Amino acid sequence: MNIVLLGPPGAGKGTQAARLAKASGLLHLSSGDILRAERRAQTELGQKAQEFMDAGNLVPDDLILTMMMHHMSKPEATGGFLLDGFPRTVAQAQGLDVRLSREGKKLDAVICIEVEDEVVLKRLTGRWSCANCARIFHEAFSPPKKNGVCDNCGHSLSRRKDDEPDVVAERLRTYHELTKPLVAYYRDEGLLRPVRGIGSVDEVGEAIRKACPGL
Ligand code: AMP
Repeated sequence: MNIVLLGPPGAGKGTQAARLAKASGLLHLSSGDILRAERRAQTELGQKAQEFMDAGNLVPDDLILTMMMHHMSKPEATGGFLLDGFPRTVAQAQGLDVRLSREGKKLDAVICIEVEDEVVLKRLTGRWSCANCARIFHEAFSPPKKNGVCDNCGHSLSRRKDDEPDVVAERLRTYHELTKPLVAYYRDEGLLRPVRGIGSVDEVGEAIRKACPGL
C-alpha cells in the first residue's frame, strides 16, 4: 500500500506515521525529517532548504519532488510507503501522480488528520526535540524525565526554530493557502479518508485504522 498522511503542522502525522510504519512494515518517509537530515549533513539541498524552513515557508516544489521520488525508489520502499508532510501543494500532488504512474504505481489512500489552529499552536510551541536521535517531547503532554535532556540518548533538547510562535503562525498560514486545497484534490480522486486528530495517540491511531481498514 502507498499512503499519504495529510494535515496541518502539529496534527500528529509524524507520530502516527511512525506507529503505522512499525505495525504495517510500510516505509515511513517524512519530508521534514529528510530535509533536516540534509541540513545536518550540510548537503547542497540542505543548504538550499535552510532559509525557507527557518522562515516557515515551503521549499520549492521541484527540489522536494526530486528528493521524495529518490527515496520512494529505494529498495526499502518496494513493499509500500507512508508519506508524511509530502505532498504539500497541488503542484507536488500532480507531480507525484504523474511520476508514480510512470513507474506503474499509485496511491491507495490519503489520511487527513484534522486539528484546529489553536490546538496546533499549543502543541508546536511546547514541543522540544532531540537533535541527536530526533525523539520529540512536549512540556505539557509528554515532558522528559529530566528537564531539557533527552530520555532516549541523554543529548540536550532544543526547540526547533520553526516551532517559535511567529514561525508556527506562518506555517499555519502556508498550510491553509497551499496545502488545504489538497483535501479537495484527493476527495475528487476518491482517496480521502478524514480522521479527527484530537484524543490520545492510541485513539487517533484507532480512528485511522477504522478509516483505512487495509492498514
Ligand atoms: P515538517 O517537519 O513536515 O513540518 O517540515 C518542516 C519544514 O520543511 C516545512 O515548514 C517546510 O519548510 C519544509 N518542508 C517539509 N516538507 C515539505 C514539502 N512537501 N514541500 C515544501 N517544503 C517542505
